[in-house]
Amino acid sequence: MKYLILIPDGAGDEKIAALGNKTPLQAAKITHMNQLAQKGMVGSVRTIPPGIEPGSDAANLSVMGYEPATYLTGRSPLEAVSMGIEMTETDVAFRTNLVTLSGEGNYEDLTVEDHSAGDITSEESRILIKYIDEQFGTELMHFYPGVSYRHALIIKNGATDYVLTPPHDILGQKVGEHLPKGEGSEFITRMMKGSYKLLSDHPVNLERVKKGLNPANSIWIWGQGKRPRLTSFYEKYKINGSVISAVDLIKGIGICAGLDSIDVEGATGTIHTNFKGKSEAAINEYVKGKDFVYLHLEAPDECSHQGDLEGKIRSLELIDEQVLKPILDYLYSTGEVFKVMILPDHKTPLSIRTHSATPVPYVIYRSNQEAESDAGRGFNEESGATGRFFENGFKLADFFFNR
Ligand SMILES: [Zn+2]
Repeated sequence: MKYLILIPDGAGDEKIAALGNKTPLQAAKITHMNQLAQKGMVGSVRTIPPGIEPGSDAANLSVMGYEPATYLTGRSPLEAVSMGIEMTETDVAFRTNLVTLSGEGNYEDLTVEDHSAGDITSEESRILIKYIDEQFGTELMHFYPGVSYRHALIIKNGATDYVLTPPHDILGQKVGEHLPKGEGSEFITRMMKGSYKLLSDHPVNLERVKKGLNPANSIWIWGQGKRPRLTSFYEKYKINGSVISAVDLIKGIGICAGLDSIDVEGATGTIHTNFKGKSEAAINEYVKGKDFVYLHLEAPDECSHQGDLEGKIRSLELIDEQVLKPILDYLYSTGEVFKVMILPDHKTPLSIRTHSATPVPYVIYRSNQEAESDAGRGFNEESGATGRFFENGFKLADFFFNR
């Protein structure tokens, strides 16, 4: 048996007047998803438990069968794992941004100008993070370069109970009010201050200033956490699988769950992503003998954040035609029994342009157990609400794999 879980991120929405009171899923031409709904089962599921932020981390943990309340340990360790860093149980990961601070005087008096240092290139940031690691790194503590402004600090036997602030939350504010707090956090403040002295005159930054770009003149440390201890997919369901996503933290959850993370060239997380490349990569994993692919597509979520209704509908149609269809064609062609589940990890309604915690629709299809076909049953919020409801999202994976 082969399994596919397909996640059109943020696809769930509300009825929209401009669509004649339909949701984007209802308005989009998603022939293949609707066919699976007609011959399969639809329902709805709460992927975000009450009291938990509707983030991609919580939502995708749920979908993969892990209770967020137990396993949610923050983004940084997931990002670190996705960067290929092998974290032990006692390691603590911190997100380390390269940021732009502006103004004159003491570090405290500077202003947080840009949390991304002008979207610095990975080539430049690699040089800076390596330099920072040479200056501050020890046996127990290392900085690792990631992508653009996003990097990692790993501390062996580190503590997690510091109060650290995400730099994107304090843009335009003074540094002084937002320095690390909590017992033993002084060494973090020391490194951040020290980095300003080291980076301000670094040749990489002098060159950036010359070009009119924001200099990466300080590190900013936040978002600490330990690697979640997930029981692997193989232990839970006796299947081998892969995760395919452009998003670091979803790759990280997959790796922590024992899946292989597959990178697809041109996977950008936007509507301009390489949709065909994603389906080819998924098929390739089955050909190599994998039982399961967790295929995540960011585009509908990204369009929702941008308030782009047309783009959201178009991205759903592209996923249906260029991602789902070729994979179904392949799976049917093998003659082996297969199961498909499609659901958004969370809703991203265009009316609010951010994530919502309300239940999402799912469709489950099994190739040798087709239901009596119902032409009126599509894959959308309305039909989902008529089917079986899972209050605890993490139980849906058990249902999908064991049934
Ligand atoms: Zn989002």
